[in-house]
This record gives sequence, structure tokens and C-alpha cells, in this order.
Amino acid sequence: MDHFQIINGVLHVEDVPLPRIADEVGTPVYVYSQATLVRHAQVFRDALLNAGVDNPHIAFAIKANPNLGVLRVLAKEGYGADVVSGGELTRAMAAGIAPEDIVFSGVGKTAEEMVQGLKSGIGQFNIESEEEGRELAAFAETMGLRATAALRVNPDVDAKTHGKISTGKAENKFGVAYDRAAGIYGRLAHLPGLEMRGLAIHIGSQMSSLEPLEAAIGKLGALIRDVRASGNNVTHADLGGGLGVPYQRDAVLPTPEDYGAMVARATKGWDVRLMFEPGRVICGNAGVLLTRVIRVKASASNTPFVIVDAAMNDLARPALYDAWHDFDAVAPTGQTGAAHIVGPVCETGDTFAMGREIDTVAANDLAVFRTAGAYGATMASTYNSRGLVPEVLVSGDRFAVVAERIMPATILDAEHVPDWLD
Ligand SMILES: *Cc1c(COP(=O)(O)O)cnc(C)c1O
Repeated sequence: MDHFQIINGVLHVEDVPLPRIADEVGTPVYVYSQATLVRHAQVFRDALLNAGVDNPHIAFAIKANPNLGVLRVLAKEGYGADVVSGGELTRAMAAGIAPEDIVFSGVGKTAEEMVQGLKSGIGQFNIESEEEGRELAAFAETMGLRATAALRVNPDVDAKTHGKISTGKAENKFGVAYDRAAGIYGRLAHLPGLEMRGLAIHIGSQMSSLEPLEAAIGKLGALIRDVRASGNNVTHADLGGGLGVPYQRDAVLPTPEDYGAMVARATKGWDVRLMFEPGRVICGNAGVLLTRVIRVKASASNTPFVIVDAAMNDLARPALYDAWHDFDAVAPTGQTGAAHIVGPVCETGDTFAMGREIDTVAANDLAVFRTAGAYGATMASTYNSRGLVPEVLVSGDRFAVVAERIMPATILDAEHVPDWLD
């Protein structure tokens, strides 16, 4: 079931017509569907359970959408959190996610962040180097604690996704080298401040094929056997996230059911608790970026520029990764035509699409960029001294502003001219 539907000629999110949100909150604004978030959370878990994965630990990768309202929805679905900074840990706790269901990932955890994690009693640190493991062990020992931990391994597998979101090749900064992993695990397991319980992988994001994941899981399985053969315990295996979502209407991607079946097959007989860190697949299709057309400008060719009030500072993915987001009029007339879709920011990179066939729109019309619920608002900036884009959560016929627009004046208030320039 789709919770983004045209009703009486107007695009609704659940039962709320988007023009109502534009009138009350202004544009640009991210709009999320709670029913879609809940459905995705349930579909992902059910796919694992139905494939025979017993008691999966599912930690939502907060970086995909760290909004407090969104996190609360997922906390109520029993999801844990995968955090990559102290700020994300604070958010996960504020959303009511139980500390024991929080996994702390990230290649550059600072001393403060490790101590924050230890004080919070989080469930698992995913250690990304022997150096980090020794530091964490020392902090834990000083505090009279043992840190529960897994070792993140770099399986040297090409995720076949965009280079900037590929994380599992040997030359990437993440995890420890595959060949050294068993040795490092053994040495860390001897430290009194650490309770080593597992191994972790995460090879990339927006994966459109399961083959690289299956290859990485196969290598992880071999490593588990090696680690156990040298007398160490492995009770948990964290398979990371990375499942892609369809950004184009007719794209075909592996489904959660395909993923569940592959995981069950590839991990057969491991005798561990499996852990997962999905991000995009849970929230990507649950959000749109609502925008208003400022004007339509003729170009040197026959293809006009549609200038919208959303820009690369609000939705960075097209500028960062040449990403595609479907663009639809909120009140489509049935007419379409080719156009370039651009924002107002003074960079050519502030381009959402070139020469794309879209709904015909005119000045003041509302439109949406689809599939903007993941890596959207979370990457927003105030570049060009624009406001920080707000976020709205819809549930049935209700909606709430779950992140306010931060106005340029508020940001200016936090800046100061030093007294020597007075
Ligand atoms: C980003 C990230 C994820 C989530 O990736 P998705 O592609 O959004 O599922 C999971 N685990 C780690 C360690 C990450 O860095």
C-alpha cells in the first residue's frame, strides 16, 4: 500500500493534502509518512523472521534520518539504533531507545564518545581498529566496566554502488584488514576491559544487488570459524545495512524477502545472534521534499529551467552522488514536458535534473522530490545563508512539525564580531 497518493487531483501524504502543509509550514519542507515508516520496519523484520532468522537484532542506522519523531516511531517498533557519533547516541537515548539496543559504529570515535557510550551502558561497540579497541578497553577498565564489543572487518568486497558510499574495499578506511582480523580479535579478547562477542561488516549503501553482500557474508563466516578455532567466542554477527531503495519508479531492486532468504542461506549453521543495521531501506521511501516553483526560466535551448525553492543545501544527494529523485507536481495537470530542475543556490552543482520529462509546472506550483526520507534533511546545511529545512511527520489526518525551520537570523545570532573590529 502506498501512503503517497493523488486524491481529488492533489497529492496527499496519508490523509493530509500537501498544500495544507505548505500553507502552514512553508516550503521547502520534508514530509514523512508514519504509516510508511512502520510498514517498512515491520516488513524488514518479518522478512528475516519468515526466512528463519531467529531473534534478529535490528538497529536503525540513525544517520539515514536522525529526526527525533522518526526515531520515536522506530523505537515503538522495537528497533534499536546504530549510532556513529556522540550526538547520535544522545538522540537515540532521547528517543527512548534502550541503551542495550544501541550499537556504536564509526571509524573515528573520540575519547569523549567512548566514555559517553560506556556511561550510557550501550549494548555494543563496533571497534574499527586494534588501536581503538585498546583505548576503549583502557577507558572501560578505569571506569570499572567491560565494554561489550564486536570487531568490524573489511571483507574487501566491491559493493558495486557509488564510490562515495562504498565501504568494504580494502582501500576504504573502514574496519580491520581481513587477513589480520582473527589475530586482532584474539589480542583484544584478552584485554580485561573488553568483552569481545562478535564480528561486524558493512560494505556500502544503496546496493542494488545481493551478490556482493552474499560474498562478504561468506567471508565473514570463514572468519568466524578461524576466530573460534583459535579458542575465542563469537556469539554475535552484525551484517550491517546497505539494502538499496528504488529511486526511479520502474527500478527493480532486491526485496527484503530476497534479502532475508539470502541471509538465512548464507549464515546457516553459524550459531550466532544476527544483527542488522538498515537505514535507507526503512526511511527512504517514507519521505518527500515538498518544494514550490519560484519561476520557470527560458534557456538557450528549448528546454526551460524550472527553478524551485529547494536547493542542494536542503537535499545534497544529487550534488554529492549524481543521485536521481523523481519529481512530481502536487496537482498534476496531465501535461508533461522536458525541463531542467534547479535550485536557487549559486553553484551549477545545485541541479536536480537535466532535460528530464516531468509534469508541467508553473510559478508558485507545488512539487515534490520523492524518496527523500533517507540522507535528506540529515545532510542539510545553511549554505548561501539559507534557513535549515524543517521536517513534518504525518499520521493519518494529523501532522506535526518535528523539526522547526531554523531561520537565517537565528544562525546570524550565533555569530559574533570580535571586539577588536568594533
Ligand atoms: C550508513 C551505515 C549503515 C546504514 O546504511 P544504509 O545503506 O542506509 O542501510 C549501517 N551501518 C553502518 C556502520 C553505516 O555506516
